[in-house]
Amino acid sequence: MKNDDIHDVVVVGAGPAGLSAAFELTRAGLNPLVLERTPAVGDVWRNHYDGVRLNSGRYFSALAGSKFPLSAGSWPSREEVVRLLETFPARGGFSVQTNIDIAQVNYDRERDLWIITGSDGKHFESRSVVMAIGGCRIPIIPKWDGAESFPGEIIHSSKFKSAKDFSGKHVLVIGTGNSAAEIASRLTEYASSVTVSGRTPPHILPKSIFGIPLIGIGVWTRSWPSAAVDRILSFLQRTVIGDLSAYGLPYPSLPLSKQFDINNVVPILYRPFVDDVRTGRIKIVGPIQEITGRTVQAQYAMRASPNNEHTLIALEPDVIIAGTGFRTGISKLVQVPGIADEKDRSLISGDQEHKDAPRLYFIGQINPLSGLLREIRLEAERIAKKIKKQLEEGR
Ligand SMILES: Cc1cc2nc3c(=O)[nH]c(=O)nc-3n(C[C@H](O)[C@H](O)[C@H](O)COP(=O)(O)OP(=O)(O)OC[C@H]3O[C@@H](n4cnc5c(N)ncnc54)[C@H](O)[C@@H]3O)c2cc1C
Repeated sequence: MKNDDIHDVVVVGAGPAGLSAAFELTRAGLNPLVLERTPAVGDVWRNHYDGVRLNSGRYFSALAGSKFPLSAGSWPSREEVVRLLETFPARGGFSVQTNIDIAQVNYDRERDLWIITGSDGKHFESRSVVMAIGGCRIPIIPKWDGAESFPGEIIHSSKFKSAKDFSGKHVLVIGTGNSAAEIASRLTEYASSVTVSGRTPPHILPKSIFGIPLIGIGVWTRSWPSAAVDRILSFLQRTVIGDLSAYGLPYPSLPLSKQFDINNVVPILYRPFVDDVRTGRIKIVGPIQEITGRTVQAQYAMRASPNNEHTLIALEPDVIIAGTGFRTGISKLVQVPGIADEKDRSLISGDQEHKDAPRLYFIGQINPLSGLLREIRLEAERIAKKIKKQLEEGR
């Protein structure tokens, strides 16, 4: 007998990944229950900083049944992404329940069911689950020595909205990921000074080559050995971006694939950042050592050399913006031991299943050079097919 309170599939999260999964599940003839913690579909993108555009380009960023219109241009804007997301449920024929923050997902082995519990205690029961919670759930701000004595503001980059809000301020941006670099560059228009502090010299690549998004190279080389792709990317950095070591940004010592495995940081694709570094609008320093009141001591350079070893530089920023990444919170959310690694990254993705978590899937947790949105589109289709088959076969 079919219990109407038991769902066939629950999708947790309604960003690009959850909406794509729901679209494909509905297309496969299922009726997914989609749960989203924010008040409205598209909110995560709605709250990204002003001016942000997709650097994977219009074509490579298309989602399931959801292409960007030609009018979105080569690099769709935040507003175009929001439009695509908020119209997704109507296009796919499914609905989203908003304001539902899932706190725990447990497997009931005896009943072979998943129990999905909201932070308000409400339960949902389901045969299968798609976790589409994104990689940016919990912002990380490092605990710098003396940070509590800093009189100014310390904010995470995910709270940065507009460079105008920092008019006339001395801003220290921490981190060398793409968002940190883009934020620093946007700040140069309004802030009194912009300094970027980083531990690891970043990979910097052109967003496109002869009009083709870099993501296209990622798609083309997806099945190649990583050493070969690393060589191409290193060649591109050296020839198209050039040597920035005189400005404090030496070439990275590890190839991109190895660096990404360690810190999960995507290469910088925002060209204005390079120009701002070269013209001195952005100053580069090494990692923060300690904070004493308004004074922030940082290492002079990202990479120590005989000339600058142990040299510190004192900065007096008004604001510190930490572009220092996120944790997923997966190990707390999904109560299955071994589902995530020590950095809280899921150990399964797409249509892979963990041995102790039957019919539970993660979408959007791996970020290849071929682009996360493209990966999401492909994963959504594979996951929906697999769930449909498993439910039909009563597995
Ligand atoms: C500024 C920026 C620019 C980017 N540009 C590109 C680009 O050009 N190309 C590209 O391919 N990728 C890009 N990305 C990366 C990636 O494609 C996006 O972050 C994309 O939004 C990821 O989709 P997602 O659905 O996996 O995660 P998210 O967009 O983070 O969506 C996750 C959803 O799950 C909800 N959620 C989380 N936890 C819970 C819970 N416990 N209960 C209920 N709901 C929950 C969240 O509220 C959110 O709505 C960019 C990312 C950022 C931050």
